[in-house]
Amino acid sequence: MKHCTRCLYTEAHPLNLVLDEEGVCSGCRVHEEKDTLDWDARFKRLEELVRPYRCASRHFHDCIVPVSGAGDSFFIVDMVKNRLKMNPLLVTYNKQYNTPTGIANLATLRTVFDCDLLQQTLSPAGVKAVTRATLRLMGSMYWHCLAGSTAFPVQIATRFKIPLIIWGAHQGLEQVGMYSHLDEVEMSRKYRQEHDLMGFEAEDLLRLAPELEERDVLPYGYPNEHELASVGVRGIYLGNYIRWDSKTQHEAMIARHGFEPGRQQRTFDSYNHADSHHYSGVHDLIKFMKHGYSKVVDHACREIRHKRLSREAALDAAIRYMAVNPADMGLFLEWIGLSRDAFLDLVDAHRDPRVWTRESGTWRLREVWPASPRVDETGLPAYGYQPDGSRDIPGPKDKYVLIGRGWIDAP
Ligand SMILES: [Zn+2]
Repeated sequence: MKHCTRCLYTEAHPLNLVLDEEGVCSGCRVHEEKDTLDWDARFKRLEELVRPYRCASRHFHDCIVPVSGAGDSFFIVDMVKNRLKMNPLLVTYNKQYNTPTGIANLATLRTVFDCDLLQQTLSPAGVKAVTRATLRLMGSMYWHCLAGSTAFPVQIATRFKIPLIIWGAHQGLEQVGMYSHLDEVEMSRKYRQEHDLMGFEAEDLLRLAPELEERDVLPYGYPNEHELASVGVRGIYLGNYIRWDSKTQHEAMIARHGFEPGRQQRTFDSYNHADSHHYSGVHDLIKFMKHGYSKVVDHACREIRHKRLSREAALDAAIRYMAVNPADMGLFLEWIGLSRDAFLDLVDAHRDPRVWTRESGTWRLREVWPASPRVDETGLPAYGYQPDGSRDIPGPKDKYVLIGRGWIDAP
């Protein structure tokens, strides 16, 4: 298995990365643009791009900003509201796996930026039914989160006739260099289906999982071409116009606006998924079981590219965190109503044969990573990330918070 000579990605990356003649991956090559592009000029392009979308009246929303209780949301809203001086409508899909930290962050976001926020909370019974189907069809417990968070903003754009949607970074550009910054890639149905949704649209679920009802699946549908065209909906990515650095951005938001990080089990990045019990727990174990690598590899590659970790230190971080046994599996199994063995069987069916082999009933990873050292889960380093926030956040640490308090008293 060939690895990039700079970062840790292999040719088997699910987003189709390519290695050039020097053995450097397309993600590392596109990252080089961050140090060569004229970012002041690019920001001016952004200002020009959004200008026609400003409403004459402050009573109307100029654009939609999809948010969550973590993941660059504070930075994006700060940029749109305070630098571009627009009046955004914030929208969020309730992923249901919420931590108290995620709920507190949404409340802070709404309060300190004084924005309207629309939340879509679907029936937990329907979400469970969809998740049972996606575990079987694609070995994913996160399809509903990805489908919901990419469909709901677009549905609201068409329904409320607010054509501009402003996203943060484009994953295909940031991770694997599928596009250059200069391509100014925009939101598309095709990318969403192929990559975010692992090939499965909402309509496909209805066909492949007859136990689902139309009402379970409809909320995940993307508006049709006619609806999009009649409003002129487009989605742009700030990462094409701003030198994107998620760590630095989150730290500015911790200092200035009270964003709360949250310690994660299987990665040192305590910022991007502080709002989820499972993203860096059992969901990340699934990623490892399917693809032979975990989210910590994405984070370690990012740190190498920003020159904050050497390749050696990043590799050490990755193999240590990938060996952590997630403590949140019981919480998920109780919610979904599956035994541990039944759950593991569903995921085993989706292992990538390029990285896994099965020998006398036992799954073995081909030669992708050096052998994992003995794991001391309590002593894993934070690599410069602030693992915990400064506030004592109320709420149960071992349960989902479906809906919590949405406002803070003293911003
Ligand atoms: Zn690379």
